[in-house]
Amino acid sequence: MEDARRIIARAAPGSRVLQIGAGFIGCIIMEALRSRGVELTVVEMGDRMVPRMMTPAAGTMIRSWCEQQGVRVARGAARRRHPTRGRRRGARRAARLGRGDRGRYADRGGRRAANVDFLDGSGIDCENGVAVDATMQTNVPGVYAAGDVAAAIDLATGKRATNAIQPNAVEQARVARSTWRGGHVASRGNMALNVLDTLGLVSTSFGKWWGEPGGGTAELIDARDFATCACSSTAT
Ligand SMILES: Cc1cc2nc3c(=O)[nH]c(=O)nc-3n(C[C@H](O)[C@H](O)[C@H](O)COP(=O)(O)OP(=O)(O)OC[C@H]3O[C@@H](n4cnc5c(N)ncnc54)[C@H](O)[C@@H]3O)c2cc1C
Repeated sequence: MEDARRIIARAAPGSRVLQIGAGFIGCIIMEALRSRGVELTVVEMGDRMVPRMMTPAAGTMIRSWCEQQGVRVARGAARRRHPTRGRRRGARRAARLGRGDRGRYADRGGRRAANVDFLDGSGIDCENGVAVDATMQTNVPGVYAAGDVAAAIDLATGKRATNAIQPNAVEQARVARSTWRGGHVASRGNMALNVLDTLGLVSTSFGKWWGEPGGGTAELIDARDFATCACSSTAT
């Protein structure tokens, strides 16, 4: 809260703000900053905005939408240096941008893994989260996991994944509760599903939207009206 209050105090109308990251959360923050009337530049390491949720065409469209709303977007770039030493109070800060590094970007995704270190030595299997079956039970009978911490079966891939969104957390908790009480409910799989409002442009993606080798993909693009729709089928 202290940090948030400091940002609010400094984000006065007309002040120049550099925001690092144009992913899902970044786009929400961007909206808040814009509403304060700041001069906003957004830096994204990926080759487009919201790269973990949008196809290249859709991510590029979101960028041009933002630029039309007066936001500067630097993509494929990462903040390199941020000199703070010897800075006078109130003086402007400068940021040096380097070329985006896809390798580091992938690492960032990896760091989103659930914090399951406390289960070391417990005998409970973990793979990027607490591994559970369709009833949310771990490999140790009577121990369950649900929500962001659970690596549960993904509906689209059939493999375990942590799809950290609220509807999955609620559904998994219901299944776990039912199993615990002796019920026979099994989850058909959780889903990656996101809906985002970027300065008024609404986008959504769900399932295995990125497609897979051997599968089919179709994309309709109407760049003038900021409309695009892509769908993928898996290989059979
Ligand atoms: C900024 C942000 C925006 C989001 N926006 C969306 C959105 O628009 N739509 C959507 O569907 N989802 C969204 N999510 C994801 C959503 O919040 C989560 O999927 C959901 O809260 C998961 O619920 P959970 O109960 O698994 O975990 P949490 O809600 O994180 O609850 C876990 C709780 O356990 C507590 N805890 C952790 N460790 C311990 C411990 N050792 N002992 C005791 N307590 C502990 C934590 O303090 C926390 O209160 C967003 C998340 C963030 C961070």
